[in-house]
Amino acid sequence: MNHIAIIGGGPGGLMLGLLLQQRGYNFTIFEKSDGQNHQSQGGSLDIHGDTGQIPLKEAGLIDAFNKLARFEGEDTKIVDSTGQIYYEDYGDGEGERPEIDRGELCDLIRSHINTTSIKYGYEFESLEQLANGNCEVAFSNGYREQFDYVIGSDGAFSKVRSYLVDVDVEYTGISMVEINVEDVKQQHPNLLEYNKNGKMMALEADKGLLAQLNGDDKIKVYVSYRMAEAELDDYKQLSQEALRNQLLSDFEQWDEELLNYIRHMSNEVLFRRIYRLPIGFNWETNQSITLIGDAAHLMSPFAGEGVNMALYDAYLFVKALDEYTDDMTITKKYEQAMNEVSSNSAQASQENLERMFSEDAAKKLGDMFTSMD
Ligand SMILES: Cc1cc2nc3c(=O)[nH]c(=O)nc-3n(C[C@H](O)[C@H](O)[C@H](O)COP(=O)(O)OP(=O)(O)OC[C@H]3O[C@@H](n4cnc5c(N)ncnc54)[C@H](O)[C@@H]3O)c2cc1C
Repeated sequence: MNHIAIIGGGPGGLMLGLLLQQRGYNFTIFEKSDGQNHQSQGGSLDIHGDTGQIPLKEAGLIDAFNKLARFEGEDTKIVDSTGQIYYEDYGDGEGERPEIDRGELCDLIRSHINTTSIKYGYEFESLEQLANGNCEVAFSNGYREQFDYVIGSDGAFSKVRSYLVDVDVEYTGISMVEINVEDVKQQHPNLLEYNKNGKMMALEADKGLLAQLNGDDKIKVYVSYRMAEAELDDYKQLSQEALRNQLLSDFEQWDEELLNYIRHMSNEVLFRRIYRLPIGFNWETNQSITLIGDAAHLMSPFAGEGVNMALYDAYLFVKALDEYTDDMTITKKYEQAMNEVSSNSAQASQENLERMFSEDAAKKLGDMFTSMD
């Protein structure tokens, strides 16, 4: 493997780039955005000791990560719509799953990659696999280059994936209106006191308020619904005021403390439909193309595994590189290891989704957390 293209500079692509750089490989990361928008794809992420933290250790970044990570961010509270608490853990700040904001994580990894190895504003468009196995890669800005290996880390709606397998993402049945409560220390101390330093999950049948304190003094709240795929469009069309009123009316019977998350929402709103790839799907190994992260195994976020898997895939890939010499074997070994780990996570994510959007959801999730203590 002499000349590698990494398509997509999210956490997975960046981690892989850094690990390749440290091993002396010639690679380029092509990212379609301008590199400024890491925040817009999820807020605070918990990085697990047995997966996501391993590549950070491998890359020598664990001390820097530990300085940025919020160990107190593991605080967890689970309530039902009346506010009845089914689980609470305000930890000792020494857990296995500290939190970091997505932007900070990406910046940390990126700051150790040579700037010449990342090209922003390059949107992958297509590739052609040549007779010698090499790939001619084309970007929407007209740039083309040949590589002997291409890794798709281009996320949920990966275009690279279509060169390996014909599979579409599936709607999980869950949609979210992502809202934010800003400047919580100064402006909303009571809500902060209620939320504590980590996650607050309020669940009842087909709805939920999933709140998490982020590092920038805001609480991000995923107002979540089991709903038909098209229904979110009705919410997108509303003015800010009308949206707030709609959310308040959807959660009308819920406890006053919980409604405060909606009452204090700022104008920063995103609309998200949650998709997944079929659990455990795979493809025939190709000697010159593979996938990591969401591109390979998009799963719902309800087990907090997605970013951990993306980082860990990067690690599994370079471990196969360290151990084997021919590209076909490297790819096969990597894909076997990746599929094994990620299909377990995808299964756990799906089980959590079913648990969290069902009758007695708060009790079921609370029992699960209690059993893991
Ligand atoms: C609402 C929500 C909450 C989440 N919460 C959590 C959580 O708590 N914990 C957790 O572990 N995970 C969570 N996730 C999932 C997590 O964000 C993803 O699993 C993770 O970001 C995957 O990393 P990745 O590098 O594979 O892909 P991405 O982060 O999606 O990065 C892909 C990159 O590729 C770029 N790209 C896309 N197409 C192209 C193209 N054609 N050409 C060039 N570049 C391209 C994109 O701009 C992006 O930078 C959440 C996701 C959502 C939607």
